[in-house]
Amino acid sequence: MKNSETIYDTIIIGAGASGLYAAAQSSKQNGLVIYKGKNPGAKLLMSGGGQCNLTHAGSIKDFPEHYGENGKRIRNILYKHSNEAVISYFTQKGVPLIEREDQRVFPASLKAADVLSLLIGESKKNGFKLCNGSVECISMIDDEKAIIYKVSGPDIEYKCYKLIIATGGCSYPQTGSDGSMFNILEGLGIKLIPRKPALAPILVQDYPYSDLAGISFKNVELRCRSRIVQDDLLFTHKGFSGPAPINCSHLISPGDEIQINYLPELMDLETHLKKIQPRNAKQLASVIADLRDGIPKSFAERVAHRAQIPPDKKLSSLSGGELKKIAGFLTADKFKTVETGNYKTAMATSGGVDLQEIDLKTMACKNHKGIYIIGEALDVNGDTGGYNLQLAFSSAFIAAHAKKDNKKQIRDNNIKNK
Ligand SMILES: Cc1cc2nc3c(=O)[nH]c(=O)nc-3n(C[C@H](O)[C@H](O)[C@H](O)COP(=O)(O)OP(=O)(O)OC[C@H]3O[C@@H](n4cnc5c(N)ncnc54)[C@H](O)[C@@H]3O)c2cc1C
Repeated sequence: MKNSETIYDTIIIGAGASGLYAAAQSSKQNGLVIYKGKNPGAKLLMSGGGQCNLTHAGSIKDFPEHYGENGKRIRNILYKHSNEAVISYFTQKGVPLIEREDQRVFPASLKAADVLSLLIGESKKNGFKLCNGSVECISMIDDEKAIIYKVSGPDIEYKCYKLIIATGGCSYPQTGSDGSMFNILEGLGIKLIPRKPALAPILVQDYPYSDLAGISFKNVELRCRSRIVQDDLLFTHKGFSGPAPINCSHLISPGDEIQINYLPELMDLETHLKKIQPRNAKQLASVIADLRDGIPKSFAERVAHRAQIPPDKKLSSLSGGELKKIAGFLTADKFKTVETGNYKTAMATSGGVDLQEIDLKTMACKNHKGIYIIGEALDVNGDTGGYNLQLAFSSAFIAAHAKKDNKKQIRDNNIKNK
């Protein structure tokens, strides 16, 4: 619906984690949240498999290393509204949380819907209306007294003094986060870093574990390019998933080699096998299964088959070459990647608005002072474990509390920067 009369105090484009948190944290005002797609918070509802892993309970000092190269630059954002602040916000507002053994934090109900309904309720209390619509244009009206932003699209036209862009990345486009805002931002002269799917399973050539889908390993070591990741790994029907492959999927390209060590705690498996070999009548598959707690027999048998050795062959009768092969498949299992995610399967997007464009103390665009950019739209992507939602919340809090710029100054700055 066209509505060009009202000038809102704040318009937030995007009703995801960051947009709704910004509205929920804002002071009472005449505000509007615009979102694309059927429902607000569509991606938040699917986060953590519908349970919403909203942050991590580790020390905030350890957070920056979970956001790759840009982690150090966003340290102050995370410190300003930390995981503890997020935890106490939800707890005080009546959404009790639980911390899992791996320190991931969820609502105690394990329902993302509880997180979403709190944020929508608080946004409305603060005077924000929610409206469905696709923003296709952002323009500036240079009024005598202030800069006013106009956002428009098919059947919508709204004006505001403060504009918060919380439009997310490109993954799961059916949720409304389709990356359409990036072209608009580029049109405003805002520099972008090329986008790529992130947090996706890694698919490899000649994947041998399709029928073992569901088997997982604690703390494997995965090497890709110059990065070594130690974390859990999961076999799926199509490829490798779980935190270890997912957290480095954006760093590799199809054709790259990855190497997996399922037993990183054993310094030299070949030497170990040689040492226990003499007079050892145990069958090979049992030897492999006993190397570590929780190695399923089906995996041990598959490794033997891949080395072209009968799984029931006695360890004592294995040749030196056969021991070497077994050690190789268990500690340096090499694969050529064929796919490292697409936006239908990736849980996040790497790249986005260049952090150089943003005053990280306020989340304001340096060259468009009334515009703030938050959440996954920024060139930051975190590991799995609640880090992406934490960044969405921290950056939203800062933008919501950013002191309203003097309107005249906004105008002057924008004119100067033209
Ligand atoms: C399946 C899945 C599971 C996940 N699980 C977790 C998890 O457990 N923990 C975690 O930390 N992270 C998780 N993530 C990542 C996390 O959900 C995102 O990083 C986070 O939701 C990003 O929030 P955002 O507000 O920046 O963007 P989004 O939540 O993507 O919201 C963007 C909003 O902008 C709107 N929009 C976009 N373009 C326009 C436009 N042109 N006009 C109007 N509106 C527009 C969209 O409709 C949407 O409302 C998961 C992601 C996925 C896909």
